[in-house]
Amino acid sequence: MAAKLLDGKSLAAEIREGLRLEVEELKQAGRAPGLAVVIVGDDPASRRYVNNKKKACEHVGITSYEYALPGETTQEELLALVDKLNKDTAIDGILVQLPLPSHLDEKTVIYNIDPKKDVDAFHPFNVGKIMIGEPDFAPCTPAGVMELIKLTGIEVSGKECVVVGRSNIVGKPQSMLLLAENGTVTVCHSKTKDLAEVTRRADILVAAVGKAKLIKGDMVKKGAVVIDVGMNRLEDGTWSGDVDFEEVKEVASAITPVPGGVGPMTIAMLMKNTVTAYRIKQ
Ligand code: NDP
Repeated sequence: MAAKLLDGKSLAAEIREGLRLEVEELKQAGRAPGLAVVIVGDDPASRRYVNNKKKACEHVGITSYEYALPGETTQEELLALVDKLNKDTAIDGILVQLPLPSHLDEKTVIYNIDPKKDVDAFHPFNVGKIMIGEPDFAPCTPAGVMELIKLTGIEVSGKECVVVGRSNIVGKPQSMLLLAENGTVTVCHSKTKDLAEVTRRADILVAAVGKAKLIKGDMVKKGAVVIDVGMNRLEDGTWSGDVDFEEVKEVASAITPVPGGVGPMTIAMLMKNTVTAYRIKQ
């Protein structure tokens, strides 16, 4: 294997340990930060994500409050809970696990979260602050990607950065964070004409598509840093990223594994944002 493996699991553990020490001090000075996690229905993937987030809270010393609501919860009931959490002084961060069941309007729910408690940074107020380069909270997955890039020691400034995917939660904010670091950023999507021609230009390539092994070895420039956000469940039950790891590891200079790359970093950044929310409130 030619590429350096960017171990998100170890880096996330390091970040959590730093936060644990910080939270220890906060506790002595008053109280621990609090994170409310709201889950509606019984989607197994959402349940797993919520459990991982709760476990991370325990590691760091953040108090987590779980609100597990039945699948038939109405929009009014969910908004009433969000309103209650907005007003609760013991709660610094609110996370509503997405996707919500289809009868609920995700957008309205997100818009009703107090932006100061919006640790996912999905509220338009926080999205706007990312856009103007003054974020209080960096969105968790893109922020985790930036930390993994930092691990390579490569400066983003002046580099050709290609982001594949333009979702509101990954691709778009990712492009903004790379731009803020002075990368020259190109964003690709399903209508991009010649994807391989664009990805081959990248010094730093971030794939956030949701299509297993879309990025092949011949789509990557020699020596590129490749960050794989994708999490795709294969028929045999194993996970694959959006990058064909076996092929691309022979071409890239650094690459993230799936699992164990971006996933753990996303949760570490959520912990960081919760501590930031606490500090902002203070
Ligand atoms: P979305 O489905 O919201 O967005 C996918 C994007 O990929 C869209 O912009 C779409 O384009 C683009 N796309 C689809 N097909 C192609 C193609 N053939 N070529 C180029 N672009 C294409 O997904 P998310 O951003 O929410 O998630 C992306 C992946 O990342 C998923 O696998 C998800 O599970 C994973 N993920 C992982 C996280 C982690 O912590 N590890 C966190 C969040 C997501 P268009 O806009 O034109 O439709």
